[in-house]
Amino acid sequence: MRVALVTVGDEILSGDTVNTNAAWIGEQLTERGVTVERVFVIPDRVADIARVVNEARAEYDAVIVTGGLGPTHDDLTMEGIAAAVGVPVEEHEEAVQWIEEHSDYSHADLTTGTAHLPKGARMLPNEVGVAPGAEIEDVYVLPGVPDEMHAMFERIADEFDGDPYFTGTVAAGEPESALIDRFGELRERFDVKVGSYPGDYVRVKIEGTDEATVQNAVEWLRERVQAPDETDA
Ligand code: ATP
Ligand code: MG
Repeated sequence: MRVALVTVGDEILSGDTVNTNAAWIGEQLTERGVTVERVFVIPDRVADIARVVNEARAEYDAVIVTGGLGPTHDDLTMEGIAAAVGVPVEEHEEAVQWIEEHSDYSHADLTTGTAHLPKGARMLPNEVGVAPGAEIEDVYVLPGVPDEMHAMFERIADEFDGDPYFTGTVAAGEPESALIDRFGELRERFDVKVGSYPGDYVRVKIEGTDEATVQNAVEWLRERVQAPDETDA
């Protein structure tokens, strides 16, 4: 399963907010064997939301959108999704009912727009906050507030699956450029994906769909690189 993430919010583009939602969802999906193919960061603007979501849903099996829910003037995500799918937004009865049963808000207290979703969407309850999420045609719309988003994602996590995935890491205390030939040989010998991430040392991530192959590849490489503490010593 291949998925795109769309994070909506002017504050992410300006750098006021770090896009932890993309990192968190990326990790959750990868653990489930789902491939995250794209992360988009876009402004709170209906036309941009509609265009990017439409491009993404044409290309990928599902799209997860976060941010910009609720009734305030800069919360335009539901409108953007509705425009992408070609339906109006309207008050969702089940969403109103859920909020009335699970919070102190009555229908009359709710700010107009709080429970408005694209027509025909499935409502995703917000256990932590108020504004509901939605799913329509494999586009999932989740809140921007991380705690609310996490709780809502847990409810739908089972809808995302892929091949079980295994990973292992090897730490190498050598310059990345010196490791290139060994990476090449590793990939020839084993059916794995190899990522290398330089920092204080080079973290080599080995991934594959067969657990024993990943384990063998990790051992093969570990025997052939200098461990970081050897160089420090
Ligand atoms: P609410 O229903 O409370 O209005 P919302 O779904 O509309 O929530 P936003 O208004 O977009 O969410 O953002 C609410 C909070 O969540 C802000 O503090 C924002 O910085 C944070 N937030 C939004 N998007 C992200 C993101 N991608 N990563 C981390 N934090 C985010
Ligand atoms: Mg908001």
